[in-house]
Amino acid sequence: MLTRKLPIIAVATAPGKAGVGVIRISGPNLLQITSALFQKTLTPRQANLLTLRDGDGEVIDQLIAIYFAAPASFTGDDVLELQCHGGPQLLELVMRRCLELGQDQGLVIAEPGEFSLRAYLNNKIDLAQAEAIADLIDAQSEAAVRGAARSLQGAFSNDINSLIEEITQLRILVESTLDFPEEEIEFLENAQARERLKTVMHQLHALREGAKQGKILRDGIQLVLAGAPNVGKSSLLNCLAGEEVAIVTPIAGTTRDRVKESITIGGVPMHIIDTAGLRDTNDLVEAKGIERSWEAIGAADLVIFLQDSSTIDSVDGPELELKAQILKSLPSKCPVLEVHNKSDLLSSSDLRSTKGRALFISAKTGDGIEALKQKILETVGWGGTQEGAIVARRRHLDCLDRASVHLDKSQQFAADGNVSLELFAEELRLAQDQLGQITGKLLPDDLLGKIFSQFCIGK
Ligand code: GDP
Ligand code: ZN
Repeated sequence: MLTRKLPIIAVATAPGKAGVGVIRISGPNLLQITSALFQKTLTPRQANLLTLRDGDGEVIDQLIAIYFAAPASFTGDDVLELQCHGGPQLLELVMRRCLELGQDQGLVIAEPGEFSLRAYLNNKIDLAQAEAIADLIDAQSEAAVRGAARSLQGAFSNDINSLIEEITQLRILVESTLDFPEEEIEFLENAQARERLKTVMHQLHALREGAKQGKILRDGIQLVLAGAPNVGKSSLLNCLAGEEVAIVTPIAGTTRDRVKESITIGGVPMHIIDTAGLRDTNDLVEAKGIERSWEAIGAADLVIFLQDSSTIDSVDGPELELKAQILKSLPSKCPVLEVHNKSDLLSSSDLRSTKGRALFISAKTGDGIEALKQKILETVGWGGTQEGAIVARRRHLDCLDRASVHLDKSQQFAADGNVSLELFAEELRLAQDQLGQITGKLLPDDLLGKIFSQFCIGK
């Protein structure tokens, strides 16, 4: 898919009925395909009301066709956009007719993400921007839409590029001195190399913070509600969701399967997984639910460990064992919030004596739920501001983390007693490579193919 140079075609609009459906064709030989379709050449960037006919001269559709000549198009190649009537069967017919008439020119159906891939390969957008197109389409909240739009405009890429530029400058400085017999420590001081490196590290850190927020905006938070049966997990989920989404009954083990509910708290998408009572069971359905609960725990961003505050003093061996097991299964660094439910069952003196020590809530009365929501946002590291936010992916965070490790190492090679300019420069180069992978430079082809293949067809 990376190298094929054939013209491609796909329906660009969503499946289903609509007023208008858009079909996009892009690639070489498009002039010939256009004249085969409409017996004429189209003036670029002009709307043309045209009729498409089948082999018998029968009208398939009257449509608007716009021709974009390379390189002034989305893909950077010639593009023909057909705005047809939006019926799925009709679009199918138009597609078939185009493929028939474009056959001699090698017209083929596009792979997922192939239009964006070509835009990327033709340097119309970089990889982070291409990803932002997919994220814009998949956005789950208004804030995510705005973040994706900023990334698509290049906000994220520009920051990455200016960081790369500063590292490049520093490298040039260091590498040009490698050939001179100057004392290495002397050089570092004269060039203020350490200070400059520190500035770069600060910038990288700020970028990482922004990207972390961006990932939360894009993916939301996987929040697992864990705890023994009957402590009120389903009730809390309902309370947070503000509607009845899980079955609440007083019988232990009712929640047989995990229930996933997506809500937003303070604009942040939260995917809340209500775990089935995590206990040994002979019931197959229940066992399946428990298995999936463990999977969810292994991928959590945050776990709320819920306890029943009215029975808190009688927490017994198995419950403590279960908790230890959960703590062991969490991804590293996953925060755990201990929350005590059913505060309404505590006497006011009990409640006073526990105040400030832990989070007490009542899923029944709603008491403490607002504070819990704040605590959740704080714990997942949501900065609370969506102003200027971009969207980011796990992939970007991983690259930033690896770049950071290399900058740390490069700093070590500039430390007194351990100076090696050669290794200093080498670590700078490695950091730069990692940053370059975010915008797509130096990214291996197989990874590139994998990223684009996750796009929808027609993008
Ligand atoms: P789960 O098994 O952990 O999901 O627990 P449920 O949400 O099904 O709740 C078990 C029982 O506890 C039900 O009878 C709920 O009505 C009750 N319950 C849940 N939260 C509260 C609370 O805050 N206060 C009181 N008094 N009862 C609660
Ligand atoms: Zn439940």
